[in-house]
Amino acid sequence: METTLRGVGVSHGVAIGGVRHMGTAVLEPAARQIPSEEVPREQRRARQALDAVAVDLTARGRLAGGDAQAVLEAQALMAQDPELTADVERRIAAGSSAERAVYDAFASYRALLAAAGEYLAGRVADLDDVRDRIVARLLGVPMPGVPDSDEPYVLVARDLAPADTALLDPSLVLGFVTEEGGPTSHSAILARALGVPAVVALPGATDLAEGTVVAVDGGSGEVFVAPSSTKRSELTTAAAARKAALAGSSGPGRTADGHRVPLLANVGGPADVPAAVAAGAEGVGLFRTEFLFLDDSVRAPSEEKQFAAYREVLAAFPEGRVVVRVLDAGADKRLDFLTPADEPNPALGVRGLRSLLAHPDVLRTQLRALARASEGLPARLEVMAPMVADRQDAKAFADACRAAGLAAEFGVMVEIPSAALRARSVLREVGFLSLGTNDLAQYTFAADRQVGAVARWQDPWQPALLDLVAFAAEAAMAEDKGCGVCGEAAADPLLACVLVGLGISSLSMGAASIPYVRATLARHTLAQCGRAATAARAADRAADARQAAQAALSAA
Ligand code: PEP
Ligand code: MG
Repeated sequence: METTLRGVGVSHGVAIGGVRHMGTAVLEPAARQIPSEEVPREQRRARQALDAVAVDLTARGRLAGGDAQAVLEAQALMAQDPELTADVERRIAAGSSAERAVYDAFASYRALLAAAGEYLAGRVADLDDVRDRIVARLLGVPMPGVPDSDEPYVLVARDLAPADTALLDPSLVLGFVTEEGGPTSHSAILARALGVPAVVALPGATDLAEGTVVAVDGGSGEVFVAPSSTKRSELTTAAAARKAALAGSSGPGRTADGHRVPLLANVGGPADVPAAVAAGAEGVGLFRTEFLFLDDSVRAPSEEKQFAAYREVLAAFPEGRVVVRVLDAGADKRLDFLTPADEPNPALGVRGLRSLLAHPDVLRTQLRALARASEGLPARLEVMAPMVADRQDAKAFADACRAAGLAAEFGVMVEIPSAALRARSVLREVGFLSLGTNDLAQYTFAADRQVGAVARWQDPWQPALLDLVAFAAEAAMAEDKGCGVCGEAAADPLLACVLVGLGISSLSMGAASIPYVRATLARHTLAQCGRAATAARAADRAADARQAAQAALSAA
């Protein structure tokens, strides 16, 4: 029977498909003593699991190709290491179950690798992954990480970290549903980047049975479990009509009376560029460079690897701006070589610019790669720092850019309320501001963006957040400098009009949102946007602010 669940819709569209769960980390198997007559059977089970995982990893490597193939093939070799197999069999002969023997044999192999120096220590995470796959197979539980599937599916997870999602195959993921996460969580951002419908903060999502057919409405936040055929066709017809209404929208962003608002794309690397170009992005407003760093948490990518990625993105926008954010590690984007392991509150600790100032060599390499990447290309490179608190931070970043010989405009992200409140002082050091409304909401309302239970305070319509946006925009106008928004607030078409009314000069968002924002902006004048902004700021609650803005925009 059809039932309806309600969460927060964060990425438009409708997805209908079977549920596949994101496998969670495999727990340590219990240490139990097996009777001696079970030894041959357990040894056979262990050998079969080791072989099956090696075959699976090799096949995935062939599918993936490139660097990923080398990594997956190396992992397959680990599963087939004769010494490891012998150790597993010895442990079973001494009375361990197959899963416990695998777990313990990998632990001693792991200790050897970890002690063997930097390169081998870097392979420890790969080894853990192989171990988890073998143990999961022996326990009959889902593999950790992204599900293995040949069929397209709706991905269900407690939450998705950027590292979990790096291996997602966009052609197989119809949509996302997560139990945790607010509208600015990385699950939501990733869903928008992939252009797939998504609902977050859905209570009970992880209880949905594997394979159950669901219809996900990423606009309303509803998830229909076992939808009737009438409901399915109702949803797909409405989604198709919404898409068709956008078909006529193209060209640069502007209001109905011609006020220009460049519409830029948020990207995580060269792979996101084709969608951005296809959506008509006028450049890149936020290049989240940490995605280049997340596939190896032990060391930073080389200057050459960074250079190649930056150059590819810059070359794709010969007439546009490309705003590159230097590495934003920490909190939910941990990197072992930068992020302290023992912080009680990582989101309030050494993250973003703070960790780069503590590791100037990492910042220097990145800035050098950027300086080289922009040489001889017509795109306008702009570089900005995340998590800037005050003028002192802004100056430290500007000094680092100058020292690296960067021929680019440098700016800072406004993600901490102090930077919005003191925007004029911050602007004495840099050329532009870019508002990261996701973190700005998190720090204004003391509401962790990863926690579904506090999603209410992550709502970018909160009037206090709009006040901070207004503060920063007014300071930038007074200094005759640009002030964009690159947080998820920019992707909400109605809110985008309010932001323009507050004085925001450019909007950057996941490529899939650009047509929606462009079409809505084109229907309203700058004066209407201004009235909508005033009406929204006069409200006391997010829902009222939205309603007031909608009413102001509908009035002539
Ligand atoms: C933000 O905080 O709004 C932002 C754009 O940065 P990120 O989402 O990557 O933290
Ligand atoms: Mg941020």
